[in-house]
Amino acid sequence: MNLKDIRLFLFDMDGTIYLGDQLFDFTKELLRTIRESGRDYRFLTNNSSKGVEAYVAKMARLGIEAAPEDFVTSAHATIYYLKEHHPGARLYVCGTQSLIGQFETAGFAVPQDIEQTDVIVLGFDTELTFKKLEDICKLLAAHPDMPYIATHPDFVCPTEYGSVPDCGSVIEALHYATGKRPVVIGKPQPLIVELAMKSAGVTAAQTAVVGDRLYTDVKSGLNAGATAILVMSGETTPEILAASEDKPDLVLESGAQILAALKE
Ligand SMILES: [Mg+2]
Repeated sequence: MNLKDIRLFLFDMDGTIYLGDQLFDFTKELLRTIRESGRDYRFLTNNSSKGVEAYVAKMARLGIEAAPEDFVTSAHATIYYLKEHHPGARLYVCGTQSLIGQFETAGFAVPQDIEQTDVIVLGFDTELTFKKLEDICKLLAAHPDMPYIATHPDFVCPTEYGSVPDCGSVIEALHYATGKRPVVIGKPQPLIVELAMKSAGVTAAQTAVVGDRLYTDVKSGLNAGATAILVMSGETTPEILAASEDKPDLVLESGAQILAALKE
């Protein structure tokens, strides 16, 4: 495959274009080269704890001028899914105030009274309390068929000191308690990739998903029929790659190799 045929690059963020608070050396030139050559990019993130404004601000701190339209998050994909499958539903949201605000802005009611719930939504809740876990257990006990949706399946979120439990770990905790598993929306499901392709007006054949995690980034690219590129600049080691069933179309040291290919 020729990287020059790609019109849209969908970048994961942490481990792909930066690591924690450190932008990779190649990132600015890569992003500039993509747009100057008439191609385009979006940033895809499964992290539903923060709104797009927070990512625009983080990029600005790292020296990258980004617009809200440059990001597609698992919250966007979840809102799209809810509008398709549960229009007008009243939500119980186990998530941050920021996530609740995004659902409300999209027109969904998030009532205080948990009896008023039609659909349960679980996000990456950095404001998690035991009461919220209990609320979900109560709802699923009283209404075993209530639609239950999670924004994404990542087990852990990287931090400067190691990892913290992400949405996937809470999915497992609730599965032990209730026997239930949610419908999961973000990567590796193709919806977030499809929304990004739609916003850029390109086909899967013209799109590459670039990320450092096999079971979310690479798999979402494969599931969407796009080119799936693994970069070894983040969490995947050669041992993890060798043991994985998710085989990327291309394995690169880092995004620097994409830059080199586009400049050839
Ligand atoms: Mg990553």
